[in-house]
Amino acid sequence: MRCDFCGYEFKEEDGIQGCKSCPVGSGCKMVKCPRCNYEIPKEPQWIKKLKKWFARG
Ligand SMILES: [Zn+2]
Repeated sequence: MRCDFCGYEFKEEDGIQGCKSCPVGSGCKMVKCPRCNYEIPKEPQWIKKLKKWFARG
């Protein structure tokens, strides 16, 4: 995935999971950019599929 703020590209696993200590638990779907700490919403699976579909033309 790519940071909207600084343009840094990183794997979702490499991002900082913002809500490890969140009381809501796994309800939050944000990842933080390891470079600038900007919070980015995770891409749901269906959006990834949609992007693939569009990329195919
Ligand atoms: Zn960033």
